[in-house]
Amino acid sequence: EQQAIDSLFLVNQFAQEFFQTQLFDTDKGRSIGLSYFKQRGFREETLKKFGLGFAQNDMDALLRAGKLRGYNAELLKKLGLVTQYERDFFRDRVMFSIHNLTGKVIAFAGRIMAKDPKQPKYINSPETEIYYKSKVLYGIFFAKKAIRQFDECLLVEGYTDVISLHQAGIENVVASSGTALTPDQIRLIKRFTNNIKIIYDGDAAGIKAALRGLDLALAEDMNVRLVLLPDGEDPDSYIQKVGSEAFLLYLKEKGKDIVQFETELLLKEAGDDPTRRAGVLGQIANTISKIKNPLRRDEYVKVTRQVLGVDEGRMIFEINKLLRRDL
Ligand code: ATP
Ligand code: MN
Ligand code: MN
Ligand code: MN
Repeated sequence: EQQAIDSLFLVNQFAQEFFQTQLFDTDKGRSIGLSYFKQRGFREETLKKFGLGFAQNDMDALLRAGKLRGYNAELLKKLGLVTQYERDFFRDRVMFSIHNLTGKVIAFAGRIMAKDPKQPKYINSPETEIYYKSKVLYGIFFAKKAIRQFDECLLVEGYTDVISLHQAGIENVVASSGTALTPDQIRLIKRFTNNIKIIYDGDAAGIKAALRGLDLALAEDMNVRLVLLPDGEDPDSYIQKVGSEAFLLYLKEKGKDIVQFETELLLKEAGDDPTRRAGVLGQIANTISKIKNPLRRDEYVKVTRQVLGVDEGRMIFEINKLLRRDL
């Protein structure tokens, strides 16, 4: 069993080195892949640190190299690197390695280099015995030390957001890879800190993604703050535009407690409609009722009842109603 798992890690390690060699040591890799990364502002040391690479536009370059090294095709198929028709799965893409907590390569993502509406921008390895998407946070191996040190975890959406922030010296950052946070991911962060700062796009999708996962984090008694970036920016584009000092200042100034953020957002949506405003009270009471620690619940009652303009007794009454129902 352990032997089977070890051979999966070994083959992924081989594939990572193969993609990296393709990027740095082949003409196509350099002229297509490396120039793509450079044009995006990534330095060579950064590319090496994160195990980035290049998959050329070839039917079976990886499969052939793997066979030469004595790895059987079944293992490559099991990892999703090779299809059932014995073709390379990742072709004509720049490659991202996904590492587990101890730094082993557990999966890959490949990105197209030019816009193409017929193809997904990113494709990923399938789930395997060593890769459970819902348990992984991209970048956790490179971030864990800094997360502990700063007692805070920055959460972004994408691979390139993590990489860009690292390159700019901000290392306490991981990515959910475009999905809402799962309980396992929250528990993984909680091993290192209780403080999460979510940095998402300011668009509607970004806001929605940030709010999902909120109840879960609150139930784990974590402090969650939210920063929305200017419209059209993501952490990668924004830090490359303004630099790390201005970026950090922006986080400090715009970071908002997420319950307060949710309250203000819902109120804005409700407008002047009294029925809808009353509904907001119920929704926020519901959010606060997820918090296990009664002292923290009290603090949230104080903050939100002011924003909502209701008295404390009313707010506590609503929350207690929900708490009794959950018993
Ligand atoms: P880039 O800067 O290279 O365009 P990004 O990270 O900004 O990448 P987004 O479109 O913001 O890309 O998506 C955020 C994350 O969601 C990606 O990093 C990736 O993990 C995931 N993702 C995006 N598009 C896809 C897709 N088509 N299939 C699978 N995952 C995707
Ligand atoms: Mn978005
Ligand atoms: Mn993005
Ligand atoms: Mn981006």
